[in-house]
Amino acid sequence: MTETALREAIVRFGRSMFERGLTVGNSGNISARLDDGWLMTPTNLALDRLDPAQLSKLDGDGRLLSGDVPPKESFLHIAMYRERAAATAVVHLHSTYSVAVSCLADVDAADVLPPVTAYYVMRVGALPLIPYYPPGDADLADAVRKLAGKHHAVLLANHGPVVAGDSLEAAVNAIEELEETAKLFLLLRQEKTRFLTAAQVAELRRRFPAK
Ligand SMILES: [Zn+2]
Repeated sequence: MTETALREAIVRFGRSMFERGLTVGNSGNISARLDDGWLMTPTNLALDRLDPAQLSKLDGDGRLLSGDVPPKESFLHIAMYRERAAATAVVHLHSTYSVAVSCLADVDAADVLPPVTAYYVMRVGALPLIPYYPPGDADLADAVRKLAGKHHAVLLANHGPVVAGDSLEAAVNAIEELEETAKLFLLLRQEKTRFLTAAQVAELRRRFPAK
């Protein structure tokens, strides 16, 4: 995909996610890998108001080359890219149901959500919880880096998900699947529920290995 097409795709996905309530206000950010750096949605700009020419363009060291100032959360994206050579896009949202799950006490921090559906297992897999740190804290970047090699999706405690993909569309689809699964999980919390069994999950992982 050319840089021009990538810029337009970021704007399109940003507007789509904003209009469907997946993120509100100025929250959430999207990035995509270029041959020599990254494109990122700028700070303090709602995802339905993006302009392709305004996107922050960063070099391989994370320095701003052109466009508006990148978000304070750019380090979350860069931590993912550094640990995942095949990742070409990263999406971070403050999507309501995922944030709600990120605030629950007594969850399994190694894998927060149960295997509710096959598509969750295929698109997200396991979802580790990263302990709470204030926004912009360097320890948060370290914590993401430690898990990003093994997980393309992580959940920041009392904050929200960060998801990488081998395409922008894959990253968007995975974070949307995560958000829907968080919603289902909360809907089912008071119900006697049949989740997928360990054998069913193992069979999905055999048929659809993670990239
Ligand atoms: Zn955030």
